Amino acid sequence: MKLADYYTDNKLGVSFELFPPKTEKGDKALHSNVEKLMEFSPNYITCTYGAGGSTRTKTLDIVSAVKATHGVPVASHLTCVGSSVDELRGYLTEAIDRGIDYIVALRGDPPQGETNFVPDPNGLRYANELVDLIQAEFSQLGIAVAGYPETHLEAPNADIDLENLKRKVDAGADVIMTQLFFDNADYYNFRERCEKAGIQIPIVPGIFPVASLPQIKRIANMCGAKVPQSLLDELSQKPEDAVWHSEVGVQHASRQVEDLISNGVPGLHFYVLNKSEATISIMKNAGLAKV
Ligand SMILES: Cc1cc2nc3c(=O)[nH]c(=O)nc-3n(C[C@H](O)[C@H](O)[C@H](O)COP(=O)(O)OP(=O)(O)OC[C@H]3O[C@@H](n4cnc5c(N)ncnc54)[C@H](O)[C@@H]3O)c2cc1C
Repeated sequence: MKLADYYTDNKLGVSFELFPPKTEKGDKALHSNVEKLMEFSPNYITCTYGAGGSTRTKTLDIVSAVKATHGVPVASHLTCVGSSVDELRGYLTEAIDRGIDYIVALRGDPPQGETNFVPDPNGLRYANELVDLIQAEFSQLGIAVAGYPETHLEAPNADIDLENLKRKVDAGADVIMTQLFFDNADYYNFRERCEKAGIQIPIVPGIFPVASLPQIKRIANMCGAKVPQSLLDELSQKPEDAVWHSEVGVQHASRQVEDLISNGVPGLHFYVLNKSEATISIMKNAGLAKV
């Protein structure tokens, strides 16, 4: 099925994002959580691509195992970091050979400790160039790209960031998946600005269930997402209580999801972080799942 088709005719397309675990225990937990998440019939499952291509094989192993076990369509994330164009071609060829359906096409971040993205000498500079490559040579793969409701951290301003997003759309992206955000107003403003800029493909909000106070601070700092003071206050009421934090995280994300659905979003992309409880609770709270 074409990627954009999950989001047509008032269907709410649902996808879950995994990441490659570093240990055997993590692998087992991932597969057991995917098993539980499958009960909620996601349209497809994605797996991230580690910094510097460090998880190259692992990413493909995970998505192909998920597809083989559950028969669900899958997407591999792919970044331009540390790869020549020929290496990117090699990855895309292998992805097709292994039955991968879609690619989340990204530039990627600079290696830890560095602030500037330096492309591989024979590689690509921006995600729109990766979209061009996929469209030109691997057009059977559906393409999702990243969008930033609160503007990408490196962009000089929101208008330029939007122009750059439009380049990815014009290059042939099927769907935009957003960076996580905690205030839906940021998504609605972004959606409106995208529409004004002539972007017509689905803009799928990324949903992130907060698990702890330190985690939300770290992640918000990493990707530039604002955390509403009310959410911080609620989490801070019991600074050491992990159960309380994840309950607050689930409640906040559930309210976000209910509001997004009532405001006509085309779908939801859950950053499940290889867990299942929080996402399952959110889906149940929002009436999206078998109870
Ligand atoms: C849904 C989602 C999934 C992600 N998955 C991963 C993952 O699996 N692995 C990983 O390492 N990272 C992942 N990331 C993080 C992502 O790699 C970073 O946010 C990265 O800094 C930017 O990637 P991008 O594809 O948005 O880059 P781009 O779209 O290339 O944009 C990067 C910056 O360059 C600017 N820009 C873009 N095109 C041009 C142009 N043609 N000329 C001038 N300026 C331009 C943009 O405004 C922006 O500031 C993900 C992010 C999201 C939202």
